[in-house]
Parts: sequence; C-alpha cells; structure tokens
Amino acid sequence: MSASTWSLSITDRERLIKAAFEAKEFAYSRYSKFRVGAALLSTDGQIIKGANIENASYGGTICAERTAFVKAVSEGTRSFSALAVVTDVASPLSPCGMCRQVIREFCAQDMPILLVPSDYDSRIAKGEKDGILETSIAELLPHSFGPEELELPREPSA
Ligand SMILES: [Zn+2]
Repeated sequence: MSASTWSLSITDRERLIKAAFEAKEFAYSRYSKFRVGAALLSTDGQIIKGANIENASYGGTICAERTAFVKAVSEGTRSFSALAVVTDVASPLSPCGMCRQVIREFCAQDMPILLVPSDYDSRIAKGEKDGILETSIAELLPHSFGPEELELPREPSA
C-alpha cells in the first residue's frame, strides 16, 4: 500500500515541511547532537510541531514525533492527515520503532508520512527532485498491532 499523498494539497504539504524544519530548531539534543523536527497536520488544518527532547537520564528522552503527538492529543486533537519528519541528514530518515507504534495508534494506515532530507530547500532551489520519501505507517510498520486488535473476539480471561 502506498501513501495517499494525493490527499495532501500542495499548500498543506509545503506548510507541513516548513513546520518540521522550524520544529527542528528547538531540538534539545545536547547528548546525541542529532536534531529532529516533526510536524503533524490535523484533519481540521492545525499544524502541531515537535522536536526531540533529550535528558541526562537518557531514558527520559522523547523523540520529535512523539513530542508532536503528545502535544496534540493532550490538547484534544486526535485526528491527523499527514506527518513530516526532518533531521540534519541529507537523506530521508525513518521514525524509530517506538514512534512507529505511536503513529499506528492515531493515524490511518495510509496517511501520508513525509521523510524530508535536510537539503530539501537547496534541492528545490536547484530545481532538483525534492528527495522526500513518501511513505505510510502500513509500510513502516507492517503486520502491526493497533487499537482494533483489542476489539477482536477472544477467549475469556481467567
Ligand atoms: Zn522515535
């Protein structure tokens, strides 16, 4: 299944990419020095940004993607139409496994996920291909476990 990027207007796509770059500026990545920015588009047109926020107790670190979801959901927004993620690497990088599971919780299987290379702007300026990998959670997390699975008929528990 490929991502249904046709459902994302060019305007929203550009807004979302720009927001992911803006989000990256606020990354708190003093340990990894690996900045990540994420931007979520809600179905009502809001953009929610997130950056990775690290911690001296490393387990307290949260990724950019999950920061964006936690911000959105905790403010009452649970319905999304696209996600963009950018790092400082000049190729598209994928969300980690934990973030994929969080995406799976809140997003349609075919919702567009745009993995944006750091040199997106210069590629556009030079008239090159934008270098974005357009994917979906169905592709990133095949055979996944999600909320629907908890509704399946099952043996009664003891
Ligand atoms: Zn992650």
